[in-house]
Amino acid sequence: MKKQKIGVLGAGTMGNGISQVFAVNGFDVIMIDISPAALERAVNTVSKSLGRLVSKEKITEQQKEQALSRIQTGVDLSTLAECDVVIEAATENLELKLDLLAKLDAIVRPDAILASNTSSISITHLASVTSRPERVVGLHFFNPVPVMALVEVICGLQTSDATFASMEALAKEVGKTPVKVRNSPGFVVNRLLCPMINEAVFALSENLASAEQIDEAMKLGANHPIGPLALCDMIGLDVELAVMQVLFESFKDPKYRPAPLLVEMVEAGYLGRKTGRGFYVY
Ligand code: NAD
Repeated sequence: MKKQKIGVLGAGTMGNGISQVFAVNGFDVIMIDISPAALERAVNTVSKSLGRLVSKEKITEQQKEQALSRIQTGVDLSTLAECDVVIEAATENLELKLDLLAKLDAIVRPDAILASNTSSISITHLASVTSRPERVVGLHFFNPVPVMALVEVICGLQTSDATFASMEALAKEVGKTPVKVRNSPGFVVNRLLCPMINEAVFALSENLASAEQIDEAMKLGANHPIGPLALCDMIGLDVELAVMQVLFESFKDPKYRPAPLLVEMVEAGYLGRKTGRGFYVY
């Protein structure tokens, strides 16, 4: 069977990783961004990342060059017309994504699938601005995309079984493990992971133990590869807070209230590794 042509809209952290994974697995990719600088950075990032795979002898130099040659870039959305699947990975903003989905709907063939990599926006809502809600789906990759094995395949209220089956197969074709999730705030991973991290911040603020001790306890006692506070520093305290706010607002359940210390640290600009300080100093 001929491989589908993949469009990736947004060439940031996630978009370039997604493009890399598809290109390495033999798919032709069209990566679009409004910013030519972002596209240039994305191609450099993919090239460096593939270079590391070559030095680890996971792929050959020739495979690297072939993968790079499969990624076409541009700023014109209409180039995506020939794609069978478009994965939207633009900035996390509801108005922007609704606008992009409506535009994509008018550009791609009626039988093409529109997927979104959104972390927190309702797939059912995104589907509502298109003429093909049964062919709109969430494909939630994890960062860094080339490394992380999971893809949550998010089914909105109107996503068809055929669309799910097609995305499940596609995720497997690029070596990922798909998990089917019903559209709901936080999906599965963020719904469970972020409240755990938030609880660790409560524990810290209540002086249950120091940050180091909380992390050590969860590494050794729960067999986690990294402690929750160190993980929060990696994710970004602002991102953790945003997810908790989405869960809290969506479910109106006090169990999701953001830890006041988390809020205060974000106010102070302690966002984690990216600002050099979070629960640890870098
Ligand atoms: P990012 O800021 O790194 O990249 C977003 C890109 O979108 C930028 O290059 C920007 O120029 C581009 N963009 C903005 N408006 C556009 C438009 N109108 N047309 C085309 N391109 C446009 O963001 P990211 O971290 O890659 O996140 C992208 C999506 O993936 C978000 O929906 C986010 O929730 C989701 N996500 C992120 C992570 C993560 O860990 N970063 C993990 C899973 C899912």
